[in-house]
Amino acid sequence: MKKYAAPLLLLAVFEAVAVSLWLAKGNLFYLFNFSYIGCSIALGVFLFIRKYTHARRVVQLLVGLYMLVYLGLICGENMQIEGFWYYLFTGVFEAATIHYAVAKIFGPLLFGRGWCGYACWTAMVLDFLPYKTPAGPRKRLGWIRYVTFILSLLFVAGLFLAHVGNLERIMFWAFLIGNGLYYAAGIALAYAFKDNRAFCKYICPITVFLKPMSYFSLLRVKCNKEKCVSCGKCKRVCPMDVDVTDNSRSRKHGTECILCMECVKNCPKGAL
Ligand code: SF4
Ligand code: SF4
Ligand code: SF4
Repeated sequence: MKKYAAPLLLLAVFEAVAVSLWLAKGNLFYLFNFSYIGCSIALGVFLFIRKYTHARRVVQLLVGLYMLVYLGLICGENMQIEGFWYYLFTGVFEAATIHYAVAKIFGPLLFGRGWCGYACWTAMVLDFLPYKTPAGPRKRLGWIRYVTFILSLLFVAGLFLAHVGNLERIMFWAFLIGNGLYYAAGIALAYAFKDNRAFCKYICPITVFLKPMSYFSLLRVKCNKEKCVSCGKCKRVCPMDVDVTDNSRSRKHGTECILCMECVKNCPKGAL
């Protein structure tokens, strides 16, 4: 039973958030939403402990599809970064702002870029592509993320400054079109660079929040130097080019780690 403490603890944390928000906001949606996400993540960790190969993918599909199909398409919530700016400007602390605060701004202090490994609906599709580990060295294109970040902010600020009407409807269409563009760019880049996660490395605006916050993450993969034989397998299987053998916070590409655990699964010495 002791080995299942982690999924039980995660479930308890999500339930605490679910109940607190339900009572604070008087909205049953929060109870359902965070309970569902907590159950999905706890199930994934449980499957991982049971050494099920596709544990991460199960969580990614459960959470990613829920957010894309149910919250995005059915409920009409724009959970893209434009939706975050939109709700921030309107001063409404609702689904998209809460989602960003929990998963992408303050949550990474605790669980790093777990969002990117286990929940993102963009990566959920990209991870089906054939280039699970990058075929070549990383390109110097990370600056593009700042451009997309600023463009998303300017787009929403422009709508407010121009006093455009029917903003809810526009944000719904922005969600549909934005997602279409993300998928198209992500798939094209994956094939061009032979790297499923090229979009995450160079384009995704959300990494402007995720990278600095995950630098301080409590949850990290660490290397036991006494067991490590420097075979390099962990670096070869890492989709994000992280030097996981370096335990310092400034490890190479450390803020890119998506906690996918491929390095842990593949280390022949159990050093990670
Ligand atoms: S970097 Fe962006 S697109 Fe990639 S998994 Fe993270 S949030 Fe999703
Ligand atoms: S795979 Fe394991 S043994 Fe090999 S370099 Fe990485 S941590 Fe060390
Ligand atoms: S393989 Fe290891 S270091 Fe690389 S992203 Fe996954 S968990 Fe992080």
